Amino acid sequence: EAIEKAPHRGEVLLLDRAALEIGPNAVLFTFDDGGASALSTAALLESHGWRAHFFVTTDYIGKPAFLTVDQIRELRARGHVVGSHSCSHPPRISHCSQQQLEREWRESARALSEILGTKIRVASVPGGYYLKRVAEAAAAAGIEVLFNSEPTSRVERVNGCLVLGRYSIRQGVSAEAAARIASGDWPPRLRQYVFWNSKKIAKHLAGSYYIALRKSVLNKIACKLSRRGLGDDACSDAQFRSSSSK
Ligand SMILES: [Zn+2]
Repeated sequence: EAIEKAPHRGEVLLLDRAALEIGPNAVLFTFDDGGASALSTAALLESHGWRAHFFVTTDYIGKPAFLTVDQIRELRARGHVVGSHSCSHPPRISHCSQQQLEREWRESARALSEILGTKIRVASVPGGYYLKRVAEAAAAAGIEVLFNSEPTSRVERVNGCLVLGRYSIRQGVSAEAAARIASGDWPPRLRQYVFWNSKKIAKHLAGSYYIALRKSVLNKIACKLSRRGLGDDACSDAQFRSSSSK
């Protein structure tokens, strides 16, 4: 509701082909992982007349707390865009071998394409581990639009694939802050940028220890949530992109 009332907010857009223009302050909603909670999220967005992008980790399709094949088809039928979030959600996709990297994009796009009967053009990077080689492999697998997790409105093009950043709306981010980000206000955007970059340095310094720690914390939260029947929200990156001409 706060985002709906946000001043200076552009149109809520869907992007499933690279040719589409993103106007100033356009807002794109994206949800990662393919958790079963996607359906209730979709219903909430639909009540505002909006549609979103849902990125599915294909090895988890049909597993407890994740979307089934029928639910993925339903999301698409309700007007949402379904894209790839890799096959296995590797802990650090940017450091996968070239062979695995290509397989993660190619096979996940193929699996979703078989389910939906249409070409898969969009994807998001699991865990935010982005390097240019991740986009190059996605482009080679036919992905035309790739979202990473860098909080920026800058748009890049890698081998014809459009690479877009995102701002995160996680637990603890107030509705007011979400609305301000959607409005293109720079202070909350800058805060995310500074936090994200300091985390990036920590990830780089701590390497696999950081991954192990993050995984163990996420597993604990996910267990608690699944006991409460809330799906995998804890490891789901609900994010949105608000492009800006600034
Ligand atoms: Zn993810």
